[in-house]
Amino acid sequence: MTCPRVEIDLAKIEHNAHQLVTLLSGRGIDVTGVTKATLGSPEVAMAMIAGGVARLGDSRIDNLEALRDAGIQAPLTLLRSPTPDQADRTVACASVSQVSELEVVKALSAAAGRRGVTHGLVLMVELGDLREGVLPGDVLDLARRISRTPHVTLAGLGTNLACRAGVVPSTDNMGELSMLATLLEGELGLHLPIVSGGNSANLAWAIAAPAGRINDLRLGESILLGCDPLTRMPLSSLYTDAFTLVVPVIESLAKPTVPRGATGEAAFGVPMPMRERGTIVQTIAAIGRQDVDPEGLTPPGGVSVLAASSDHLVLETPHRLAPGVELRFGLDYSALLRAMTSPFVVTTFAATKHHPPSLSPSLPPIANPTPAILRSLSSPLTPRSARRHQRAYAED
Ligand SMILES: *Cc1c(COP(=O)(O)O)cnc(C)c1O
Repeated sequence: MTCPRVEIDLAKIEHNAHQLVTLLSGRGIDVTGVTKATLGSPEVAMAMIAGGVARLGDSRIDNLEALRDAGIQAPLTLLRSPTPDQADRTVACASVSQVSELEVVKALSAAAGRRGVTHGLVLMVELGDLREGVLPGDVLDLARRISRTPHVTLAGLGTNLACRAGVVPSTDNMGELSMLATLLEGELGLHLPIVSGGNSANLAWAIAAPAGRINDLRLGESILLGCDPLTRMPLSSLYTDAFTLVVPVIESLAKPTVPRGATGEAAFGVPMPMRERGTIVQTIAAIGRQDVDPEGLTPPGGVSVLAASSDHLVLETPHRLAPGVELRFGLDYSALLRAMTSPFVVTTFAATKHHPPSLSPSLPPIANPTPAILRSLSSPLTPRSARRHQRAYAED
């Protein structure tokens, strides 16, 4: 099968989830496993559940619906506020939504009432990163309004840092969230079961500082790619290679290193300057910017990425490669997100032999991950567009 594919090693994802769950449980923090970078893959979700996450979260309703359609029973959190007209779909698949607007709260309340359920709300607080959330001074007022709204319950407070402006989770901003939680409980006479401090960028804080009231982190990148998004450094004893992009070669020819003819802008802006280095082997892999972020690829040893257009990944290789030969690349978060979203990239599941990653004292070693998840799975080679269509039909 020679079309581009992402090979996913579910046992490595389970291992990473288990390591992080174990580490954080010692600090009183639950893990919400975040599936959005895998387009809500039920297989990845099951590996996270096998690793011990308390619940699953995704920013897209379609992805949460995919998890429910696959029969996943774990509690689901919608991590991005729905629009008011998505309220019915939201309460049908998620038990909790992260919100910051009263209009959305009212729509969710009405939808939950129609369904005869109570929907949980985590009120998002803006603590400096300038993405979603209400300002700290407005939290009490909105929380009071939520507490008086039928069919919804104020399940807690949340914040999100290090996504838009790169603001680092700290003792200060996490302390502020803890204080707000305690303030609301005192003023409104209720208990907030969830105080969700953030995403994978919170790990350094969570390992180093006391947790205060924070009892939940929403982890995607650290479980999937084993790295800290603040530094993009590998986290000790986690696998960084659970995902591999495999791409076939379509051309591999000796070519000059500098262009011939007058040059203007290329398809994606001003090209990288090309230095005269004589003749090289230039190899083209059948994938492009439509399917992957070329800056986020780690090519195999001896291979370098020279450029990428919509559909051609231009590489330099040590020697010529036959058309159809497959090259294997590591992926960063941006490359993974795009590859998993492209309808031209299929997903397969690989069972590899496991050499545990290097262990360090900061994470307690555990027994080898049980690849139980693998035994229960086939390896479907279904393009995602087809999967989405199947789902759409199933809903009719
Ligand atoms: C994507 C997302 C997360 C997970 O972020 P990672 O850096 O992948 O751990 C957490 N919370 C929200 C609101 C998100 O949108």
